[in-house]
Amino acid sequence: MKKKSVADVEVTGKRVLVRVDFNVPLDQHGNVADDTRIRASLPTVRYLVERGAKVILASHLGRPKGKIDERYRLDPVAQRLQELLGKPVVKVDECVGEVPKAAIARMRPKDVLLLENVRFYPGEEKNDEQFARRLAELADLYVNDAFGAAHRAHASTAGVARFLPAVAGFLMEKEITILSQALENPERPFLAILGGAKVSDKIGVCENLLKKADALIIGGGMANTFLKARGFEMGKSLLEADKVELARVLLEKAENRGVDFLLPVDLVVALAADPDARLKVVPASAVPAEWMALDIGPESVNAFREVIKKARTVVWNGPMGVFEMAPFRTGTFEIARALAQSEAVTIVGGGDTASAVEKAGVAGKMTHISTGGGASLEFLEGKILPGVAALQDA
Ligand code: ADP
Ligand code: MG
Repeated sequence: MKKKSVADVEVTGKRVLVRVDFNVPLDQHGNVADDTRIRASLPTVRYLVERGAKVILASHLGRPKGKIDERYRLDPVAQRLQELLGKPVVKVDECVGEVPKAAIARMRPKDVLLLENVRFYPGEEKNDEQFARRLAELADLYVNDAFGAAHRAHASTAGVARFLPAVAGFLMEKEITILSQALENPERPFLAILGGAKVSDKIGVCENLLKKADALIIGGGMANTFLKARGFEMGKSLLEADKVELARVLLEKAENRGVDFLLPVDLVVALAADPDARLKVVPASAVPAEWMALDIGPESVNAFREVIKKARTVVWNGPMGVFEMAPFRTGTFEIARALAQSEAVTIVGGGDTASAVEKAGVAGKMTHISTGGGASLEFLEGKILPGVAALQDA
């Protein structure tokens, strides 16, 4: 999949509407608590500034549900962006109509302006044509750099592309290139590692990666349902009884396709999901009735590490255990370290997995950490993301 990027079009002197993902966490004072997503937009914003475009940024923040909500104004974001860019950012309190039009008419090349939260308008999430048209009126060119919102068909992520030439920003381009390379033409062996809480969240990813990967590792809470399908009792572990049959079918598919399918061989179990609870390591086939599995055990880590060593491409989505609690983070951190040591192309998707890799201190060692939680999941499911589909092909 190849989309036209901002580098492929003339931007000098143009009014460029850039959809960014500034949906950042705020602290209790309403300040930006984590500016990762703002930083991720800088390559595109700086490029446009350097080329003398008039840069008009649009984003959502939180879930104001189509109404003005003072908690979700973008002023703190404008403040942080201004610090990061080292140049003034004009913030306007509306997205469409006379207020932004007047402010844009005053812009000179290299100026940067931030519109108000697009989700203050009911037309945004409804992908209303009229609202999309009014956004498009502000600019000559549309750039989508909000990969994290690309799985939504909203006015500012997809609809506006009907009324303006639409190209990818550098972050969007990087996400699409790396993820589609892994799915369409991976260097083999291609290993997928899936974890996290529930099978039901990851059925689509599991199905799609079973068709593409040479090996599949399953850990975390979702492994319990697969272990149950193999006939093991899982005690008080998180388990989706209504997905056991599906897990059995997936195991069968993997076997028919010759995909190496690895489940944990041992587990860290505890009497409660509590950092102070008693814990022990047991074989995956011997979880005691009153205990629950909260991490993969050391033998599983060793077995998984061997498979990781052989892989040339690794996609990882979902932690191996309840990594938020220190006693149950070892499996996840060890997998993160194994990926960090690997020469393979290593791709991390999923919000919690990204934060686990960060906590393990090896984020810089990954080839790519996707900035889109839901979007990367849907991409790995093989779905066409509306925000990507709306962009011009290269
Ligand atoms: P991501 O955000 O990376 O896609 P998920 O949201 O699917 O990942 O899963 C992360 C969650 O899964 C974490 O909150 C973690 O505590 C939970 N989890 C992992 N293993 C287990 C387990 N064995 N039992 C219960 N919850 C688990
Ligand atoms: Mg999550």
